[in-house]
Amino acid sequence: MEIRVHDLRSWTHDRHHVVDDMPYGGGAGMVLKPEPAFESVEALCRGPESRVIVLSPQGIPFTQEIAGELAREAHLILLCGRYEGFDDRIPRGLGALELSIGDYVLTGGELAALVVLDAVVRLVPGVLGDAASAQTDSFVTGLLEYPQYTRPPTYRGMAVPPVLLSGDHQAIARWRRKEAIRRTLERRPDLLARAVLSELDRELLAEVEEEDASPSEASMKNEKLTTDN
Ligand code: SAM
Repeated sequence: MEIRVHDLRSWTHDRHHVVDDMPYGGGAGMVLKPEPAFESVEALCRGPESRVIVLSPQGIPFTQEIAGELAREAHLILLCGRYEGFDDRIPRGLGALELSIGDYVLTGGELAALVVLDAVVRLVPGVLGDAASAQTDSFVTGLLEYPQYTRPPTYRGMAVPPVLLSGDHQAIARWRRKEAIRRTLERRPDLLARAVLSELDRELLAEVEEEDASPSEASMKNEKLTTDN
């Protein structure tokens, strides 16, 4: 993998290397000019194998699914904005995919580009030590990942679920799937509503809902602790 950083100012033709100008119609801030953006992309483009991305809070929300798609591309060009952002002809004229990393506004697109880069790069074969670990990550299966534990088996009175110490791989796989469903139901019901569930998943979901409707002593104790605090 090769990652290069380019300065938009390299594609200016004036003495001061100006990349921005005042907005038509007035108003605060400066707008990034079309010429350096178009010329830079044209200089870096390798033909149809290049995919142009403009980082923008107005873009489509960046997701794990998009990260997976981008990881299969041969060449990505990520354009980072500043100030009031890009002249609107830039993403349109370049046929760019506009991506947002969330509903908040950053000062510039550099951090957004790094977020996209990091999520994409770890999906490229050979990057992660154990590629299997990316397959169970949150969002990959449409659900949040199951809770993870490591040694020691008990820490400050908190015990690791006994099934994980049982060595029974089938029981562990079932527990993990069920806890992934429970966690997604509790924290991201929107994801669960969109997830494609198997027959076993539906069975596990029904078990989770039943357990949540009649909470165990342990979970009631936890709830009391939270309320008391
Ligand atoms: N005036 C713009 C608007 O209201 O949509 C915001 C411009 S922002 C201050 C400057 C640059 O930061 C943008 O051009 C973009 O590249 C980047 N940026 C800010 N928030 C972002 C987000 N949530 N996702 C991706 N890029 C973002």
